[in-house]
Amino acid sequence: MILFDNHTHSHHSPDSRMNMIVAAEKIREMSFRGVCFSDHYDFDPPQGIKKFNFHVERQQSEIESLKESFPDLELLRGVEIGIQPVSLEAIQAFMKKHTFDTVIASMHFVRGHDPYHGKYYDGYGFLEAYDIYLEDILKSISAFRDFDILGHFDYIARYSPYRKHEISLKTFGDILDPILRILAENGKTFEINTKTYQPFAHGTPVLDRNILKHFRELGGEAVSLGSDAHSPERIGEKFEYYSEILKHCGFRYGVYYKERNPVYFTIDN
Ligand SMILES: [Zn+2]
Repeated sequence: MILFDNHTHSHHSPDSRMNMIVAAEKIREMSFRGVCFSDHYDFDPPQGIKKFNFHVERQQSEIESLKESFPDLELLRGVEIGIQPVSLEAIQAFMKKHTFDTVIASMHFVRGHDPYHGKYYDGYGFLEAYDIYLEDILKSISAFRDFDILGHFDYIARYSPYRKHEISLKTFGDILDPILRILAENGKTFEINTKTYQPFAHGTPVLDRNILKHFRELGGEAVSLGSDAHSPERIGEKFEYYSEILKHCGFRYGVYYKERNPVYFTIDN
């Protein structure tokens, strides 16, 4: 089975120290086709966070020289752009300045907060807390379409203090459906972020398979697998397990993006 990790963070990300050579060695050892280094580039960080981005040229030139040592692997120049409705103009200007293989759009900061630090949830029940996060994703991708993959749609469940750690289609379908429709109708890819489904301080988020099935029904061709690894041992985590789930949900292809064009590979053998 071909596997590809579309979402990893090298030492260029402010919150990672992962050495690219070690990451590439791990990819080779696991017999993956390749890896995308999707370092963080966020705009408008909440108060107290100075900046959360990386030096694009330095990251890309390191990837170029890495290719010489690993000619057997696809090593992709990626970015994980932090979307927020307030940041869209700045993001568009940034996109005009740079070229990438893969662009992941995902939301970390919500209305002045980083949920990672917990305060965002104060005063909200789970319905409201998750709804606001999804609404802001929908607003952002309604206006900004220059991306390939929607990253970790359920990031908000990782750090939440509630008992409910699942963003199900049944409960949140009114916002999830238009999000999935925008992706399917515009050739974008939904991501399974395998980092999300592990124990966090208040519980373990669960992926609702009905979301995958619905994305397929809407015409979604492939789903991206991303480990969100910030260290080599997490690269490709649980990818075989989630590939099996994808097959059961009707998918036949995995995907990665090279020079912004999708490269599909079969997962059903
Ligand atoms: Zn992220």
